[in-house]
Amino acid sequence: MSESNHGIRLFGKVIPLYLQILIALVLAVGLGVLLGAGNYASHQKALIENLAIPCDLILKALRALATPLILLAVLHSFMTAEIPGRSGRKLLWLLLTNTLAAILIGLLVANLLQPGKWGQLAHPSGGTEAIKKTLDPWLLLQDMVPDAILKPLVDNNVIQLIILALSFGVALRGLKSIQIERGHTDYVPVQQVITVLFEAVIRILNWIITLIPLAVFGIVARTVALKGFEPFKALGGLVVAVIIALLLQLCFYLIRVKLGSWVNPFKLLQGGVDALLTAFSTASSTVTMPITFDALIEKVGLRESSASLGALVGSNFNNDGTALYEAMAALFISQVIGVSLPLPQQIIVVLTSIFASVGAAGIPEAGLVTMTLVFSAVGLPTEYIAILITVDWFLDRCRTVINVMGDMTVSALLDGKHPKLKAEALMNEALAPEAPLKFEDGN
Ligand code: ASP
Repeated sequence: MSESNHGIRLFGKVIPLYLQILIALVLAVGLGVLLGAGNYASHQKALIENLAIPCDLILKALRALATPLILLAVLHSFMTAEIPGRSGRKLLWLLLTNTLAAILIGLLVANLLQPGKWGQLAHPSGGTEAIKKTLDPWLLLQDMVPDAILKPLVDNNVIQLIILALSFGVALRGLKSIQIERGHTDYVPVQQVITVLFEAVIRILNWIITLIPLAVFGIVARTVALKGFEPFKALGGLVVAVIIALLLQLCFYLIRVKLGSWVNPFKLLQGGVDALLTAFSTASSTVTMPITFDALIEKVGLRESSASLGALVGSNFNNDGTALYEAMAALFISQVIGVSLPLPQQIIVVLTSIFASVGAAGIPEAGLVTMTLVFSAVGLPTEYIAILITVDWFLDRCRTVINVMGDMTVSALLDGKHPKLKAEALMNEALAPEAPLKFEDGN
């Protein structure tokens, strides 16, 4: 894959992408505050809405690119990389254990800090239409199988696309092995077409990534101007508790990466900073997905197969930040209304939060929709979710960062304990022990 550098040159110095995004974030918050931070003048509403036009276009392009990227990256990995048979099982194990850790951290912090008892919260008054939709886990399962082969691509249905990509990937890989055994080479042109298309998608992706700071500026300025910080006073306890829990989850990831992967945890953070800032700015892990994939390969140096399995395939089921938030929100509301949730109820919260996080799409505020599943399971009134909407524009961004960090963690763990070049050298050494090999460290 081509080397990418999204920095721009200013007065002879290169400004890296993460710095451009940071500058855009700061300027955007400043502009949002200038425009009223929630108390905007009504004649300015149209202007504020217009701030979103360039960013809508850029995010639309990223979303559109996510589906071909997933399809081609998965096919390319299956055709060209060594994917050990146990990768699938390892992925499932990593996803489940990370999500469980997230929910337990969320419950622990909510039980210890009791944020629902910090202040007086007003009763919810209507306005619950947005979150009235309930989530049916069985429908979710049924929806995984596409009606027609090309439909997931046309509808941008990521989960169906993954099923499709994995099926074709496994089939093509099987055919390739049979042909190699028989000395045939019919698979070569197919592999070449996939490789060229994959490189073309990455090229287009790199063009769009250059425009990300512009998108960040527009979307954040508009959100701060329209929503403001006022509701944060009433819900301060929840905001503080969620941020503490998300930080603990981040520490859990860093320790896990340190113990289970060749990647230095801080290098992972450093390499993935573009993706993390984009996640915060857009509140969408699906929009961030192509950037996460790019950063893992180009900046962190992971194998393409690990990045595509962890950050493209796994990402759609891996929403630890969302799981943590859903469990905490249930406990928070139970504390607000003075209903205690004993241990068996909290276990139901754990189980339903796993489903709810898997079912949450990687788009802004998807977690609020699936939260109804958790609330209904333990008999909490779903109207209270409406109260959370007022601070969700901010908390959603924070949990999306953790969702993306979770994808990066899983990818690093899938990459194993040896960097790309060192692992190749070890393999060669095992095959030809008499030939001394020079190790090159991928770090
Ligand atoms: N916005 C989150 C994401 O894109 C999902 C959520 O609402 O929790 O990952």
